[in-house]
Amino acid sequence: MNLKKGMGLVSDVFPEREGVVSNPLTGNVGIGHTRYSTQGTKTLENAGPFVVSNTMGYMAISHNGEITNADSLKEELKRKGSVFQTSSDTEVMLILLSREISEKGLKNGFRSAVSKLKGSYAAALMINDRLFAMRDPLGIRPLVVGKVNDSHLIASESCVFDVIGGELLRNIAPGEIAEIKQDGVETVVSSKGERLAHCMFEYVYFARPDSIIDGVEVFSVRTRIGELLAKEYPVEADVVIPVPDSGRAQALGYSMASGIQYSEGLIKNRYSARTFIMPTQKSRTSAVKLKLNTIKSAVNGKRVVLVDDSIIRGNTLKHVVALLRKNGAREVHLRIGCPPVVAPCYFGVDMKTRDQFFAAGRSIEQMRDELGADSLGYLSISNLTESIGMGNDSLCLGCLTGVYPVSIPGEKYLYQTELEGY
Ligand code: SF4
Repeated sequence: MNLKKGMGLVSDVFPEREGVVSNPLTGNVGIGHTRYSTQGTKTLENAGPFVVSNTMGYMAISHNGEITNADSLKEELKRKGSVFQTSSDTEVMLILLSREISEKGLKNGFRSAVSKLKGSYAAALMINDRLFAMRDPLGIRPLVVGKVNDSHLIASESCVFDVIGGELLRNIAPGEIAEIKQDGVETVVSSKGERLAHCMFEYVYFARPDSIIDGVEVFSVRTRIGELLAKEYPVEADVVIPVPDSGRAQALGYSMASGIQYSEGLIKNRYSARTFIMPTQKSRTSAVKLKLNTIKSAVNGKRVVLVDDSIIRGNTLKHVVALLRKNGAREVHLRIGCPPVVAPCYFGVDMKTRDQFFAAGRSIEQMRDELGADSLGYLSISNLTESIGMGNDSLCLGCLTGVYPVSIPGEKYLYQTELEGY
């Protein structure tokens, strides 16, 4: 089994030379990973994929999500003699799978591991030259199977298949572990949780708009959010402007439902990265300043409805409202396509401490005032779930409500999904 990993963007680790991507890896089965760290330090050894060797040969894993009981599992595994080299929850998951499958065989090993793992995981697993896809029983993170020519692929988002000229075949079902074979996909283990808990934030912000998650197109959800936002918070205005890129579909929906003209009033530096995923406050603040500029004719003298997907820390919006006013906007009405985010995420989105949330502990009026807007309207939870087309019992809304689908030490919860009994 060959492994290559590095720090930086994919294009740094696999650079292109004369139009050809340098790739020292060979073989007919492989997994890859781009890390967005939530647990473990931001160091190379914590980057995926992880590889271990055991009596069966080699096992490797790429994991999207977060194992909420990683610490206690790690202690238990250490007591049994396992050795860890990193602070990543993914390594814990791999060592657990390795032990369980070595001891109990493939199916029983998978079942036993799933009964012990808590939290979210959408993972690609290799056991020697065999490839498996596994998704947690709550279906928190997305995982899809596609096909290009004669090859089968798994990915977090279906847009990957479009980009490489393939097609989406189906979702990996919540609780499913499937083997990806040359001629198709075969379910190995299927376990049901007590409920589903698809992450609402994938639809709101995280996923690409051209992805289809659990049968629902992300772009359609976002335009629907905009339409419902227009009904929930109508306002007299001249123009609807999105915060690019993440507020575009919502702004389009708002414009269609309200009849107010849509305009690209803000231009984004195409080389800037998403500020939300930047690791430090300093890098986020300076990136916000560098990344946006206004189209003056679209803003000057206008009553603007400014639409964004969500507010996490509020840095971008404060700056954007001030920028619009500086360029002559008469009024700025903020419309936000996600209810106030007030609580941490424990399932793979890097929002960990309550004090970083702009909405935590502030009234709508306080937030409006601090953001410098004339009005502020957040989409309601009921309109969010209606936009996605799923009920509260199929979605995770933890960061909006503080009520999580899995027991989190120190947090209140409604549902505890213990899987021993399946
Ligand atoms: S807490 Fe929020 S971001 Fe985290 S999985 Fe749930 S809905 Fe998604």
